[in-house]
Amino acid sequence: MPAPPDYDLLIVGGGMAGASLACALAGQPLKIGVVEAAPWKTDEPPSYDDRGLALSPVSQRILAGIGIWPQIQAHATPIERIHVSDQGHFGFTRLDARMLGYAAFGHVVAGRQLGQALVSKLAAQDNVDLVSPGRIEALQSRPQHMLARVVAGGVERGVSARLLVAADGGDSNTRTLLGVRSREFDYRQTAVVANVSLAAPHDNTAYERFGPSGPVALLPLEGQRSVAVCVAGSEEASALLAMGDTEFTQRLSVRMGHRIGPCLKVGRRRGYPLKLVRALDQAGPRFAVIGNAAHAIHPNAAQGLNLGLRDVATLAECVIDACRAGEDPGAYPILRRYAEMRRADQRRVIALSHGLAQLFSNDLFPLVIARDLAMCAIDMIPALKRALVRRTMGFGGPLPRLGRGIPL
Ligand SMILES: Cc1cc2nc3c(=O)[nH]c(=O)nc-3n(C[C@H](O)[C@H](O)[C@H](O)COP(=O)(O)OP(=O)(O)OC[C@H]3O[C@@H](n4cnc5c(N)ncnc54)[C@H](O)[C@@H]3O)c2cc1C
Repeated sequence: MPAPPDYDLLIVGGGMAGASLACALAGQPLKIGVVEAAPWKTDEPPSYDDRGLALSPVSQRILAGIGIWPQIQAHATPIERIHVSDQGHFGFTRLDARMLGYAAFGHVVAGRQLGQALVSKLAAQDNVDLVSPGRIEALQSRPQHMLARVVAGGVERGVSARLLVAADGGDSNTRTLLGVRSREFDYRQTAVVANVSLAAPHDNTAYERFGPSGPVALLPLEGQRSVAVCVAGSEEASALLAMGDTEFTQRLSVRMGHRIGPCLKVGRRRGYPLKLVRALDQAGPRFAVIGNAAHAIHPNAAQGLNLGLRDVATLAECVIDACRAGEDPGAYPILRRYAEMRRADQRRVIALSHGLAQLFSNDLFPLVIARDLAMCAIDMIPALKRALVRRTMGFGGPLPRLGRGIPL
């Protein structure tokens, strides 16, 4: 009789999606391996930086279901109000969570804090092996398992797993090794991100102002700080990264339409080149693709990780249901079901973020009038507000169990 595979699941990439999946399944009788390219440290986890992440209530439920929300909650800032405007034009929309029957639209959490919660939970699990820094050099799909050539600490070895999960981000090398095709669109924009301390309290308000070179957003953080996300063409972004703090805060204030008052302090700035990537096949014999490896999107609607966490919750549910039914979680019908369950949600969110990026990068007069009238209509018509808000809060379609607050 052949030896059983080394792992039930081998996850490539220990970022937010990969680590969340490992946490979701850590309590189950499964043997899990996580291969992460960067060194794995609990105080400074890989790829989790200072960027502020707006998490929807559905994401909050998923993180609670996988057992890490209590650790994050103390640092999470609720978004109670949202103000969206169109720079240089008349369109604007104001949203107030309480007026729409919610306590908050979501919470903002620093990526680093989310990373620390995930990494420390994983480090305490007996059934999870962390291979870091490590990488996969080759993959071979066999009938009973996926065979991976893993290189770590200068040593190369063959590792087998019933299911291999690609969670290695937008530039996923695993996609290439698996022969998964992707569609890409380069926005020729960079998001410049920095934490700022403002003189006036942020009042749990998130701002987004669309302008000709891209949107600028300000999300409330704990300690009366905010995270500024300033999207600009590549040349302007290089200038924003290179200029002194005073000039940067002045530029930020101008792009925010002087809504934010004086800025007292600005933290380290970082640039993220933006592109849309969509993996055309997100499941195949012995593999599944999740998170940014499946879909990297424009951050204008703050949906990337929210979408990735719904992949995590859905794949965890498919794997667990298969195991409980005595089926093989790496069998293609199970994984095809996962990909089918994710298709509509991903299409909706990609259409929203890509549509917004296209709509606001165009200054054709009829288009400007149409979009500003639409913003004013949303501002004035509660039913439109509710429909938009439900979608961006993650309630746009059927949800996996973790997304409904039901344990796996
Ligand atoms: C400026 C900005 C603001 C954002 N704001 C929001 C927001 O407010 N709300 C929201 O929901 N989303 C937001 N996002 C999106 C969110 O950050 C991403 O969706 C999320 O980080 C994706 O997580 P991931 O684990 O799929 O990929 P990543 O975070 O890219 O992690 C991939 C991991 O794989 C590892 N890796 C890479 N290659 C290999 C390899 N060959 N082998 C092994 N490991 C490898 C990397 O080291 C990394 O740890 C924002 C994005 C940006 C750029």
